[in-house]
Amino acid sequence: MASDAVLTPVLLPEALVQGLSPAQMEAALAAYLLRKAAYAYRGIDYDGLTNVAAPPVVAPAMIRFQTSTGEWLEGISEPKIDPNHWRIHLCVEAFAPCDDPAHFGQACACPKRLTGMREGPANLCTNVFANWVRVALLGTNTTITDATRAGRALTSTGGTRLDGGVASLLGCAGTGVTAATVADTNMQTQTETQAAVTVNTVSGTGSSGTFTVTFTITATADRAYTEVGIKNITTTTAYNFLLTHDSFSVLNVSNSGWPYSLAPSLRKN
Ligand SMILES: [Zn+2]
Repeated sequence: MASDAVLTPVLLPEALVQGLSPAQMEAALAAYLLRKAAYAYRGIDYDGLTNVAAPPVVAPAMIRFQTSTGEWLEGISEPKIDPNHWRIHLCVEAFAPCDDPAHFGQACACPKRLTGMREGPANLCTNVFANWVRVALLGTNTTITDATRAGRALTSTGGTRLDGGVASLLGCAGTGVTAATVADTNMQTQTETQAAVTVNTVSGTGSSGTFTVTFTITATADRAYTEVGIKNITTTTAYNFLLTHDSFSVLNVSNSGWPYSLAPSLRKN
């Protein structure tokens, strides 16, 4: 704070000045000026109070480490790309079988009764997804663990680029009950898959944008579904990579019409 510059006098409430020592006063002013500068960096005029929401600043930061010999090392902290920041909003809907017994076990277009739903935003893209961002978007050769737990070296350039790229997607459903994690590389207990996966267009304005990925799983037996996921499959070698995975409280689905062995409270019209 030492300076020869002439400072503009500031009027402070007497009670405030009497309650603080000169050192405390200087520390309070320094903290205030730091906070004011932090708000100014976000384009917000801050004079002690504001009702403007300040978004987080993603930018390199100065950091210091002290070694075991007492030496200080300084450096720049890079912004972190955390796969947990790629959230998916999961919506799983369970439908009753078709009223026509001839359609049991098939994905027919007849209207069906909605029997259960799980929906929420706190769902995971996996480390596999982050590694695909590294190699496909950021151009960094990356070894990614596939659904067989084998490490697959994908290159961002050259003849084997991305192992031919993504050929197709696979929607997956299963009955594993362990909580999903970003380290997952496969479904826990996969029971059905769906190759017809629709990737819809991106919409959004300002600071928010989304797109949806949809698929329909047809139960091949009575199921107590607890997990879903999406895999991509590469072109050259057909590696399967689990991009996102989540678990949820059980959704019972019958494949054999009424009465439901797993949802006995439901009744046919
Ligand atoms: Zn039908």
